[in-house]
Amino acid sequence: MNSSTPKVGFVSLGCPKASSDAERILTQLRAEGYEISASYEGSDLVVVNTCGFIDSAVEESLDAIGEALNRNGKVIVTGCLGAKSGVVQAAHPSVLAVTGPHALEEVMSAVHDHLPKPHDPYTDLVPPQGVRLTPKHYAYLKISEGCNHRCSFCIIPSMRGDLVSRPIGEVMNEAENLVNAGVSELLVISQDTSAYGVDVKYRSGFWNGRPIRTRMTELAKALSELGVWVRLHYVYPYPHVDEVIPLMADGLILPYLDVPFQHASPRILKAMKRPASGENNLARIKAWREICPDIAIRSTFIAGFPGETEEDFQQLLDFLEEAQLDRVGCFAYSAVDGAAANALPDQVPEEVKQERLARFMEVQEAISAAKLQQRVGRIETVLVDAVDGDQAIARTMADAPEIDGVVYLADAEGLQAGDLVEVQITSADGHDLRAGPPEF
Ligand code: SF4
Repeated sequence: MNSSTPKVGFVSLGCPKASSDAERILTQLRAEGYEISASYEGSDLVVVNTCGFIDSAVEESLDAIGEALNRNGKVIVTGCLGAKSGVVQAAHPSVLAVTGPHALEEVMSAVHDHLPKPHDPYTDLVPPQGVRLTPKHYAYLKISEGCNHRCSFCIIPSMRGDLVSRPIGEVMNEAENLVNAGVSELLVISQDTSAYGVDVKYRSGFWNGRPIRTRMTELAKALSELGVWVRLHYVYPYPHVDEVIPLMADGLILPYLDVPFQHASPRILKAMKRPASGENNLARIKAWREICPDIAIRSTFIAGFPGETEEDFQQLLDFLEEAQLDRVGCFAYSAVDGAAANALPDQVPEEVKQERLARFMEVQEAISAAKLQQRVGRIETVLVDAVDGDQAIARTMADAPEIDGVVYLADAEGLQAGDLVEVQITSADGHDLRAGPPEF
């Protein structure tokens, strides 16, 4: 790379889906011969990939744009907040261009306008697996964009549009390239993984000359042939989700389901306009556990949604006690600019939201801690994430990176990130586990 190579700085905020957009842009920049610079000062321009999901994310994004402008001066904005170009331009009129989410072509065209392509794009060809932001041994696999639902607290469909599924052949080729490049774990993401293929009527695509339907179960089966960990995120509890549980019981994909239930009171679920809100989730969870006793269920919830009464909230706590979920996140409801829920009556006062959030966490922490405690003494396979001397940090099949717990491994000499090893769990705290080599 010579000093005349144009250099682009890249700042990425937001969720794994935003990271996946960022990876595509970085891959294209590298494919065209741009250098990715690690500093504002060393870049010819900076791309800021923003998040606009909640108000604090909007502020963080606007601050990041401001910092890039101060330290570099030439800034292109993309990502979810970019869908509201008026907000960005009002705060930072000097940005060069603003594009919305998953707008690879628009971002590249803005980059070309302000920083022409290098003369020889063939000097720095991208490896087939692309450029990734996650550590080398795991990767996010985005299978669709957008969402057909209209949850009243969410503005993602207005920013990202309706569901568009990626062709299954393209998804499988990307997965295969990632595995060939050394990835040991694929994390399937989208706004609604259970809806994969609805928009194309589940039509068949081709992978390695073989027809495969564009559908979650068929995708999960095909991914399982790659011989790595496959983890499903953002799955809604539709009846057809039951089909993937036997794949988990058979060890084909990880026994892990990330199901954002958000609430348990039918009244609140209806006000939230949640997908599959009429399902009897407790019965479904029980049936899943009968088929796959080791399944780890992760979920997220909102406390203090508009109209939530003490009775609704108590229903949520009762659900938690019954469901015995493994990993749970909870947020106090926070109004998102542009969301339909802002207009709902009976907004819950802030101190009540916070008080309910604290009660929720107290109940769930006791459940999570007891569930972790039950695993002490067990032998489990873990994936090593990082090694430092004779200590390592790893994850069990029940833990997704960045959001769930970790396993602290003792006597880890010789291990490397990406290794799968059998360990024996020696102790547990409220969130994480400790383990060492198995003692037979
Ligand atoms: S399912 Fe609901 S919360 Fe999720 S992206 Fe779609 S509208 Fe938003």
